[in-house]
Amino acid sequence: MMIINLPIKSDVPVVAPGDSCCNCDSTASVTSQLTDLRRMPLWGLAGAEIKVKLPFPYCELCAATANRRRPTALGVIAVSLLLALVLGMCWLFAGPQLSEELTEYIVAPFLLIFCFAAVIGFYALKKPSGEQTSYYQPIKLKNTGHKWPADITGLELAFTNARYADKFSMVNLATIAAKKIKVSKA
Ligand SMILES: [Zn+2]
Repeated sequence: MMIINLPIKSDVPVVAPGDSCCNCDSTASVTSQLTDLRRMPLWGLAGAEIKVKLPFPYCELCAATANRRRPTALGVIAVSLLLALVLGMCWLFAGPQLSEELTEYIVAPFLLIFCFAAVIGFYALKKPSGEQTSYYQPIKLKNTGHKWPADITGLELAFTNARYADKFSMVNLATIAAKKIKVSKA
């Protein structure tokens, strides 16, 4: 079996099985792709972001998912507000003349709710294709272990591909026993 070494500063080696795609499980033309994993405390609203780039195997079709990060709550809110602002401007310039009260209490809230729903709907429509287990990155960084100041010495990963999660656990049994790695299914 091909094994990929994961470059973290753990005293026990952390490896990833390299034979099958970590998203769809295909074994055809699999290459190792750096996966830009990030973790934001509090759903992306506050705190320092933790970043780690780790090589995982992807097939050609899933290679694009290696760096396709999930939208954060903050991102969804920002895009919705921007869209509402643009539509609001259009309404003011081109829409019917309404009283200030009507614009403020009916049109503006309606626009906000409409844009928020549209953005959430847009993201909800994005579905994985074929055998893919995720449209976004198939690996989630749930937690990290640290040694001061910034060395990452432990990882908690969740995989959307349950079979890959099992294979990953199998090759890291010693590291899991040493509590440097924690694996779950997303
Ligand atoms: Zn794949």
